[in-house]
Amino acid sequence: MSLLRAIHADITTLDVDAIVNAANSALLGGGGVDGAIHRAAGPRLLEACRKLGGCPTGEARITPGFDLPARFVVHTVGPVWHGGHANEAALLAACYRNSLQLAAEHGVQRIAFPAISTGVYGYPLDEATRIAINTVRGVTEDPAMPQEVIFCCFSARDLAMYEGEMLAPPGLG
Ligand code: ADP
Repeated sequence: MSLLRAIHADITTLDVDAIVNAANSALLGGGGVDGAIHRAAGPRLLEACRKLGGCPTGEARITPGFDLPARFVVHTVGPVWHGGHANEAALLAACYRNSLQLAAEHGVQRIAFPAISTGVYGYPLDEATRIAINTVRGVTEDPAMPQEVIFCCFSARDLAMYEGEMLAPPGLG
C-alpha cells in the first residue's frame, strides 16, 4: 500500500520521479496544468509529445521531464464531463490506473497527480476526488506500484476536498 498525501502546490515545482499532466488527446499542449507543464519543461517536451501521435481518453503516455525537477511526465487524457452518463467515471479511474501502471514500468517511486478533469473539462470536484482516491488506493495495493502518491492541489478548496475524502471511511458516498 502506497503512502497517499494531498498538498497545495504548483505541480511543476515538485521534485518527484514523475508528475502527471492532465493533457488533451492531441498531446500538443493547452491551458491549465498542461500549459504550465509545457512552459516549465521547455520546448523539448512539445517535440517529444509530437512523436507520440496523440492519446485516447483514459490512456497514458510518458516522456522525460526535460527542464522540470521531475524526471518524467506522464500524460493522461481525462474525460470531458457530459453530465455523468457518458462513461466519465470509468474513464477518469482509467486515467489514474494507467498512469500508475506506466509510471511503475519506468521505476517511478514518487508520483504527483493534479485534479484531472476538474478544470476546463468540468468534472464535479467531489466525485472526481473520490474516484482519484479510491482508484489510487486500489491500484497501489500491488507492491510493484509507486511507493508515494501525491495529490497536488492548486487551490485551498481542492486541498480541503482531498483531505476530507482521505479521512472518510472507504466505500462511503
Ligand atoms: P482538465 O482539462 O483536465 O480539466 P485543467 O488543467 O483545466 O485540466 O485543470 C485540472 C486541474 O489542474 C484543476 O484543478 C486546476 O486548478 C489544476 N491546475 C492548473 N494549473 C496547475 C498547476 N500548475 N499545478 C497543479 N495543478 C494545476
